[in-house]
Amino acid sequence: MSGTSRGPLRKSFVSNGPSFVCVPGLVHRYPDRVLFLVTDFCSTYCRYCTRSRMVNNGKGLPFDRGQWEKAIAYIENSPAVRDVILSGGDPLTLSDEILEWLLSRLRKIRHVEFLRIGTKAPVVLPQRITPALTRMLKRYHPLWISIHFTHPDELTPETTLACDRLADAGIPLGSQTVLLSGINDDLDTMKRLMHGLLKIRVKPYYLYQCDPILGSSHFRTPVGKGLEIIRGLRGYTTGYAVPSYVIDAPGGGGKIPLLPEYIVGRDGDDLLLKNYEGNTYRYPDPGDWIGADRPYNATSRCTGEGGRA
Ligand code: SF4
Repeated sequence: MSGTSRGPLRKSFVSNGPSFVCVPGLVHRYPDRVLFLVTDFCSTYCRYCTRSRMVNNGKGLPFDRGQWEKAIAYIENSPAVRDVILSGGDPLTLSDEILEWLLSRLRKIRHVEFLRIGTKAPVVLPQRITPALTRMLKRYHPLWISIHFTHPDELTPETTLACDRLADAGIPLGSQTVLLSGINDDLDTMKRLMHGLLKIRVKPYYLYQCDPILGSSHFRTPVGKGLEIIRGLRGYTTGYAVPSYVIDAPGGGGKIPLLPEYIVGRDGDDLLLKNYEGNTYRYPDPGDWIGADRPYNATSRCTGEGGRA
């Protein structure tokens, strides 16, 4: 029963802050990318927010040029960092001028190949996505934007226009969705959301298991629910419509992907695989064939039964 995960959270499971904070407001969790927290302000506040302890609580970081300069200096001195994600809070609550100052400073760093912004503004404050904003953003390519979507009802004409403007500015768009009990934790709702996103040129990117945030237990679902939804999408609809289902592991473990079991075992050299309809297939695993006494025959794979030609 889905209610089994909804009891009070055990204290040891409660997320208690980002690890890997190198300078205030900069999280360097993964080898080649950093999360740059540029504001604690949002245009809406989500009870299940993974950073709810810091958004708009008035006792956090200053989020001023002094703090941003320190973060930028860290990035300048970290040649391994090729990808910078502006987040917060919501970076699109900053003025165009401040946002441009940040983007232009980051764009000057030669080893930074790729800039990203995480935002919910196109969904809850779509009028923020003005022609002036998109004209400015397109000067800082390659720039990608991840948009926080929750439900197909958010795909309004205003949000569609906002996403159109961003996509027309050449900005690749991805979605981030948190799996929420009673909101989007059923296949039909999730499929309508994912299909609707593709129609407005947003690629479904991540489906997050709801983090164990204090006060959010009523939103949390068992992991099996998310796996059931992914199983209901994969194979049954367009591959582009299937997001990666992940847990952001408490204690700074990072994102861990969760997949239904498609590998069911091994029989000798054959891998046993289950397809989306539950039928089992054998696959000659090249790891055991190439260079062995039974050489791998690529031709038979391309033209024979089950080949791709
Ligand atoms: S908009 Fe994003 S950062 Fe702001 S409260 Fe919601 S999830 Fe958190």
